[in-house]
Amino acid sequence: MKNFYRLFIPFVLFLSISCSSPDINLSQDFDHGSLGDMKETSPGYFKGKTAHWLKRDGIGDQYYWFYFRADHVAGKTLSIELRDLIGVYRGNPHLVYTDHTQPVFSYDRENWERITDVSYDSATHTFIFSESFQQDTVWIAYAHPYPWSRLEQLTGKLQDQEYVTLENIAKTAEGREIRLVTITDPQADAENKKTVLIMALQHSGEDAGGFLVEGLIDYLLSEDPGAQQARGKFIFHVIPMMNPDGIVNGITRYNTAMEDLNNIWVNDERAQPEVTGVKSWVDRWYAEGNAIDLFIDVHNHSQFHTYHAFIFQDHSLDSLVTDMNNHWPIRIWHSEFEGSSCSWFFREGIPSGTIELSQSRIGDGPYLTIEDYLDYGAGTVKGIVEFFEN
Ligand SMILES: [Zn+2]
Repeated sequence: MKNFYRLFIPFVLFLSISCSSPDINLSQDFDHGSLGDMKETSPGYFKGKTAHWLKRDGIGDQYYWFYFRADHVAGKTLSIELRDLIGVYRGNPHLVYTDHTQPVFSYDRENWERITDVSYDSATHTFIFSESFQQDTVWIAYAHPYPWSRLEQLTGKLQDQEYVTLENIAKTAEGREIRLVTITDPQADAENKKTVLIMALQHSGEDAGGFLVEGLIDYLLSEDPGAQQARGKFIFHVIPMMNPDGIVNGITRYNTAMEDLNNIWVNDERAQPEVTGVKSWVDRWYAEGNAIDLFIDVHNHSQFHTYHAFIFQDHSLDSLVTDMNNHWPIRIWHSEFEGSSCSWFFREGIPSGTIELSQSRIGDGPYLTIEDYLDYGAGTVKGIVEFFEN
């Protein structure tokens, strides 16, 4: 019997080694995928950087976004160490990662979970996270990704929907359409309707805004009495994705010309087709005798986790924030983003503000989910209706 084990155990060991799964493989070659050079320094432990994106003027350098696929991970622990996570924003250090940063992972790109085994060293700007997986293929991202394919799916769903008009108002350098979704009840009295324009995803890598506007569209098309009221009294124009080229190519923040779209609204020398298209649409809308009563631009503020903010210059929208805060947590922040879409609309005499969503959590609360961002979309509509009613 002893001899049997002497022979059997090495045989089993040989089998388990020769049958062990192949090495972990990381890839980023898909819609919204992004990762810099990574090296496997020990089995399952990868060190490297996120992909760098230097702004066209050379004074912006943003590179926090990552989104990759890992194969052959079932039953293994994958650790990722990202170094030098200190970007440049308007000439200043851009510190996006904090103790509160938690990436997300998914086996099907529908259901996402947070990765909780994380650590951030603020002295060296190094972020490390680890997760063990049950399935062989997993997608991992800096935050819940809102890819171009999701918008295409949504747009397909909206074709021929009651209350919806779809338009393409610009074409990007890579030929993608900038969509404009208009929602209103055409049977309702057009005379006294208010017009609201909402835009998201000028900055690729600020994906939560995509979910907010999708939730806003879903709510507006629902049978909820508040939605019926909103359709009757408002025209909602929604631009769900201003920077599809940046999204598809996995660029943090910029479009493929390496231009920050939200920096160039008042500077025609740096014009980009995405922004020019919206301005032309606004001109046409006004030329047809219409107005815009409110403009909202949706962004994310990195991983700063104290609150969601609504940023605007004066006090004209203070009570809008109070009304929105009745439905989801958001606070006033008076400031000005020079050159931004908001400053352009403000100069046109249109009340305008920027929603800045947290990508992690609010205070010590639970980490935010896609459902939270979708709910904020409904809350945004409800707040806007209350604001104009009062
Ligand atoms: Zn932004």
